Amino acid sequence: MELVVLGSGTVAPSAHRTAPAHWVSAGGVRLLLDCGAGMLHRAARHAVPWPDVTHVAVTHFHPDHWGELPMLLFALRWGTLPARSALLRVIGPVGFRTRMTVLAGALGDWVLEPGYPLELVEIAAGESLELSGDVRLEAWKTPHTDESLAYAVRDADAHLVYTGDTGPSDDLARWAKGCDLLLAECSLPDNRAIAIHLSPTQAGTLARAAGARRLVLTHFYPAIEATDPTSVAARAFGGEVLAANDGDRFTIGVD
Ligand SMILES: [Zn+2]
Ligand SMILES: [Zn+2]
Repeated sequence: MELVVLGSGTVAPSAHRTAPAHWVSAGGVRLLLDCGAGMLHRAARHAVPWPDVTHVAVTHFHPDHWGELPMLLFALRWGTLPARSALLRVIGPVGFRTRMTVLAGALGDWVLEPGYPLELVEIAAGESLELSGDVRLEAWKTPHTDESLAYAVRDADAHLVYTGDTGPSDDLARWAKGCDLLLAECSLPDNRAIAIHLSPTQAGTLARAAGARRLVLTHFYPAIEATDPTSVAARAFGGEVLAANDGDRFTIGVD
């Protein structure tokens, strides 16, 4: 399994971090975990074959996490040659279909009928979806918004967990148990910690409780850029910690 970080930032503008988007390749699956603004241009910059996307999984409805979804749907019809004909499955929390219908009211019917097969799938915490072959997506609740989810991607060799946006949660740590790579949000420094995001120490504590093999921090607000989040998180975790940058690539599940 390979992970490419397309967006390691947030809604706060940054010259070098765009909004959350993560590309996962596993078997025949090409999955986007979140689809934040700037995703398409980052994919172009880092030579990620975005027209091959098979699935998109949205963690929650804050616009930095799915604001570029309409752009992606439009680009797959008009921004690449040949235009797409393959099915695209887009997965989101309960309420996702209703929100897509509202979006179509504003932007046009093409949001729901983009000219290629589009399937909208709602997933609830505790549920699991077969994406293709032995690649599965699992969802779990996070303390952030009413609908917010974390996702796990599993195949025979690898177990990736992406927290989406979350606050500290023992329950989330139990669900993430034994993952090979924990891709954890790390929004704010320890001295500005709040209940619905993670600080470096809280991300490290989550990784330790989950017994993660590696911790990769992402979702950095500007206030954390002046600190050293990896060192702080590593003290709480006791294992390998990396800070994601847009364009970073990680191989998961192969020693
Ligand atoms: Zn959020
Ligand atoms: Zn966010």
